Amino acid sequence: MIIAIDGTVASGKSSAAKLLAQRLGYVYINTGLMYRGVAAFCRRHGISTNDSRAVALHVKFLKVDLRNTAGGQRVLINGNDLTEAATAADIGAYVSDIADNKIVREVLVRAQQRLGRLAGNAVLEGRDIGSVVFPDAEVKFFVTADVCERARRRLADDLPKNPGLTLAAVEEATRARDERDRTRAVGALVRMPDAIDIDTTHNRGPEQTVAQMLAAMRAMQFDV
Ligand code: C5P
Repeated sequence: MIIAIDGTVASGKSSAAKLLAQRLGYVYINTGLMYRGVAAFCRRHGISTNDSRAVALHVKFLKVDLRNTAGGQRVLINGNDLTEAATAADIGAYVSDIADNKIVREVLVRAQQRLGRLAGNAVLEGRDIGSVVFPDAEVKFFVTADVCERARRRLADDLPKNPGLTLAAVEEATRARDERDRTRAVGALVRMPDAIDIDTTHNRGPEQTVAQMLAAMRAMQFDV
């Protein structure tokens, strides 16, 4: 069974997806980390992320893998762990370039489909899982929260890495990323008609979000 979780930036979908997978004994697949890994690879090798042709040329030869460790999911590019660089506070603009690249998306979508099928039971999290990667997923969630709350969460996450950040700047960046996610020519963030809406604005943490997800699945007669 495939559970597709899509949603807006900093909506709490990653921690909920991870916890839901753990509860159900499913494999967790963080697809955003794959786009981040490709961005980190380009930065490291001096490939300009907005040079779509150069990126497309390289991505076909990359092996992008996810590995689960006790400390969380890691991204490996050609066997090298690039997780730190892929999650650096200043990677955002580079990742957006990578996520806009049609060829990168083709390559990564195929890799995600392969990982999902191999797992059998998986929770995949991203922007286009229910629309492109697994349009036939048995369960689809669309997770979001009020933009001010999401900015507060992102600030709390990023402040240790970047002490100069302000809430106003994070909120503006969050809105800009939402807009870029929603208007991307391929793989745009869309709420599928068969998705279940999960609003995490007032949730205290992933436990509560997962409880909402499990309740929705039970209402669909899934034995979870
Ligand atoms: O979810 P996260 O913020 O880690 O995603 C990193 C980047 O990859 C974002 O810019 C997001 O828009 C993009 N992404 C995507 N498709 C996915 C997952 C993430 O375009 N399935």
